[in-house]
Amino acid sequence: MLHLPHETLRSFARAIFLAAGSEAAEAGIIADHLVDASLMGHDSHGVIRISKYVDWVRAGLVLPNQHAEIVKDRGTLLVVDGGFGYGQVIGMEAMELAADRAHKHGMASLAIRNSGHLGRIGAWPELLAQRGLASVHFVNTSGFGILVAPHGGSDRRLSANPIAAGVPLAGAPPLVLDIATSVVAEGKIQVARNKGEQLAEGLVLDGHGQPTTDPEAFYASPPGAILPFGGHKGSGLSFFCEVLAGSLSGGFASNPMSPTAGRLVNNMLSLAFDPDAFGSAETFAEDVTRLAGWAKASPPVESGGKVLLPGEIEIATRRDREINGLPIDDETWRRMTASAASLGVSSPRA
Ligand code: NAD
Repeated sequence: MLHLPHETLRSFARAIFLAAGSEAAEAGIIADHLVDASLMGHDSHGVIRISKYVDWVRAGLVLPNQHAEIVKDRGTLLVVDGGFGYGQVIGMEAMELAADRAHKHGMASLAIRNSGHLGRIGAWPELLAQRGLASVHFVNTSGFGILVAPHGGSDRRLSANPIAAGVPLAGAPPLVLDIATSVVAEGKIQVARNKGEQLAEGLVLDGHGQPTTDPEAFYASPPGAILPFGGHKGSGLSFFCEVLAGSLSGGFASNPMSPTAGRLVNNMLSLAFDPDAFGSAETFAEDVTRLAGWAKASPPVESGGKVLLPGEIEIATRRDREINGLPIDDETWRRMTASAASLGVSSPRA
């Protein structure tokens, strides 16, 4: 396992995306998003994705230098088409639009369709919280990310369909919930595979619908499926991610026969709220701060344990990794440096 300073990885990733055809601003946005995801402990959505993104660009599945295009505008309601561009850019531009509308009207509902991978979804409520807004986001994948068995089923029918929500706090980092509705994100199976580790029990089924802990069984032929979290509850939430993010946006729900089935397409429905428009931003902030303190004060069930609020673990991981570097397994580093070499980009010394 290597440990590299995040600044080194930022400039390395930027150089790779620049060489893969992105303009400088775009290359920086993608690099920062992926490095930040790794810094916050979401390795599955961090720099491990670099080589895959390069492969997708080469295959024409992601198109560099696209921008969020407004296709419907009803004031509080916007529909944006991502043109199969990098989700990091489409998501950022769309959130700026949502923030402007929410400040103007008190709330905004923004649907993104046909975006490339939107990465760590927690990045989007964070961005809105920086603008003083509370938000909730539902995401689906209408392209080739169909990986999850519905509760009671045995094969891939739904995608990992994350849900994220965030709220600004006065004088403190925002609280951000950021969860896949699958019991584990696919990238975490990939991380285990790269490390040659077994998975925990209860996460995946093999290609014959039987429980397994072997990550290779998930990628075998026939392929395995990930289980939804919380049985019928996670399965139901995942179903409504398909409906709200996919069907409503016009990006479509999971469908192996869809015209976009060959590429990873993320769709997202974002709802942003200006607390000041509902009442008083000050009272709202006070009440959320009180709630946070109240929940945290619950006596830990285990001695030495503590209650963590949504987003707290990411902040702690970020602090640690900013000091001690980003851990990168050998296989991820090998793939990243091979992608860089294929683009004529030299790798930093590990
Ligand atoms: P996870 O299981 O690590 O859960 C993360 C959430 O749980 C965070 O809000 C975190 O603060 C909170 N949390 C973690 N430990 C906690 C504890 N002990 N107490 C209280 N709260 C705690 O995340 P995941 O479901 O594996 O998702 C990983 C990443 O994958 C996310 O960033 C998600 O957005 C991303 N994802 C993206 C896509 C996509 O299509 N773009 C699909 C699936 C997942």
